[in-house]
Amino acid sequence: MFHVKQFDVVVVGGGHAGVEAAHAAHRLGLSTALITKSKYDLGVMSCNPAIGGLGKGHLVREIDALDGLMARVADRSTIQHRLLNRSKGPAVRGPRAQIDRSVFRQEMASEIAKAGNISVIEGEVLDIIEENGRICGVNVAKLGDIRATSTIITTGTFLGGKIFVGREVVFGGRMGQTSSKALSDRFRGLGLGVGRLKTGTPPRLNSRTINWDALSRQEGDTHPEFLSFMTRKTSLPQIACGVTATNDLTHEIIRNNLHLSAMYGGDIEGVGPRYCPSIEDKVSRFADKSEHQVFLEPEGLNDDTVYPNGISTSLPVDIQESYVRSIRGLEQVEILQPGYAIEYDFLDPKSLEPTLEHSELKGLYFAGQINGTTGYEEAAAQGLVAGLNAGLAAKELPGLSFDRSSSYIGVMIDDLVSRGVTEPYRMFTSRAEFRLKLRIDNADQRLTEIGYSIGCVSEDRWAHYSTKKGRIAAGYHILSRRGFTSHELERVGFSVKHDGQKRTPFELLSLPGVDLADVVKLVESNEIAEFEPSILEQLAIEARYAHLLHRQESEVEALAKDQNLTIPLDFDYERLSGLSNEVKSKLKAHEPKTIAHAARLEGITPAALTRIVIELRRVE
Ligand code: FAD
Repeated sequence: MFHVKQFDVVVVGGGHAGVEAAHAAHRLGLSTALITKSKYDLGVMSCNPAIGGLGKGHLVREIDALDGLMARVADRSTIQHRLLNRSKGPAVRGPRAQIDRSVFRQEMASEIAKAGNISVIEGEVLDIIEENGRICGVNVAKLGDIRATSTIITTGTFLGGKIFVGREVVFGGRMGQTSSKALSDRFRGLGLGVGRLKTGTPPRLNSRTINWDALSRQEGDTHPEFLSFMTRKTSLPQIACGVTATNDLTHEIIRNNLHLSAMYGGDIEGVGPRYCPSIEDKVSRFADKSEHQVFLEPEGLNDDTVYPNGISTSLPVDIQESYVRSIRGLEQVEILQPGYAIEYDFLDPKSLEPTLEHSELKGLYFAGQINGTTGYEEAAAQGLVAGLNAGLAAKELPGLSFDRSSSYIGVMIDDLVSRGVTEPYRMFTSRAEFRLKLRIDNADQRLTEIGYSIGCVSEDRWAHYSTKKGRIAAGYHILSRRGFTSHELERVGFSVKHDGQKRTPFELLSLPGVDLADVVKLVESNEIAEFEPSILEQLAIEARYAHLLHRQESEVEALAKDQNLTIPLDFDYERLSGLSNEVKSKLKAHEPKTIAHAARLEGITPAALTRIVIELRRVE
């Protein structure tokens, strides 16, 4: 039983946003209460057993750069590491970790317990306490008021949560847990701009009833790219996943029963994630496709549950059973938990400041799925931002905001607070105009110093980061201290222009076809050959991108100057090549008057804006 009723920071909700928020406040040295419905909530993954991926992996690295929890806890729980987009440019690669769900929860709970100044309190928050226009804590069922200088709401899919399996509807925050009605009513009563969104999850399958021999396998990487900058080795044995696919019969069963699907029956008013469609969506929207891949992902080393990635559904249980059993390898499968859809309240994030504090209700912060996002990584990154800012406010220090040019965290927060959401928001690399600069390899160089300056980065991490920074500077110095003439370069096998220029090994690395190993040989002493491969790799990436980065920054500066350019009402978006149909239809529907207006529309990328500016300038 806890006795303290006054804290510096109170966090409501122990999901991915909540634990990150509480830990961030703890790292700033503040007394923190983490109030959640069950103490077993910490680190629960409501949907897929995976962390990271494209865009999301960038967010996790950035959380890690600020000494947050997600990356290190995930690395200790990973049963398969894969670097996605390995064959593409370094800016769009994303580390993905398949997680042992129960190890992740244990590791997360142990990090929170180790923190010392975080009190985990079990209970349902019913209300927020308002005094003189400031929020100063919460009211908890059976426990009464718990007061704090800053309060953070991270209630995920729980506010007004409704679960749908076919035509059956129950109130719930996720399967097996009650939803939060009182807090939902209170936010609606306050006129906070509450809307409805939906998402779905697939049925969970019994591994022992899958015919694994009939399936192809997807192995993990032998040389893993960890999520945390601090991880050196895998903690758990690594496994392979199974791969199968839907077929004509599966599609026919689904098509014949679409009217029974909650998502399709018109029972749900909320909008779902377009980028994470249900199998009902896929079968209807991509009617010409004869199959959709399904990845069978074990949920743990000592767990028979398998997550079939790609077939989320809200069809009735018997229909789920028959379509799943039509898939190769799943003919005899037993469903352990049916797939379902969930509809829940979200708060219009346009009512928040970039610190994630509410613009009218001072002292109150919001983070995670409640702000209209979807995904563990998006939630955790917001939790971190809210936790740091709530903590800084409790210390009466200025807030910290992240800008679009230095982090994906900044891109996401800016998108949310300035454009709002019309569907669940998830991170993609295409959302960032400074993509080439915002890479997974340099997240620490972009953020760790900021974190250290406000006190949220441990001395251990700081020492690790400082060593890396020193090594990169030393490597750069060696690669840049001497320039070679074109004749000298030709003698050792490089072909370069005879333009009278001397080129340093660093500059050579930016030329197409020039290999790191060749450049290393060029440096007379073997000092550079002794550098760690990761440092050399990063120097090569910096060199390769140097001129592109320069060009990108000029483009963004030019775009900033074009903000007030007027777009005529009869502007023909159809004529523009390079704009997706989705972007064109959004622009036609909203008829933005200026480039600045167009930029605020959700889903309008910097590349699309540049295309419009070029066309406007052309016809000027
Ligand atoms: P949650 O993880 O939901 O945590 C909320 C916490 O708040 C819980 O601990 C809860 O107990 C606590 N809480 C709620 N109300 C109260 C209260 N009144 N008092 C005290 N505590 C309270 N993400 C994807 O990326 N892709 C998907 O396909 C996907 N599908 C999903 C499908 C389903 C069915 C669900 C439920 C979620 C899905 N998600 C998906 C979303 C993912 O689970 C969330 O994005 C992520 O968990 C959000 O983290 P959060 O911290 O904001 O909230």
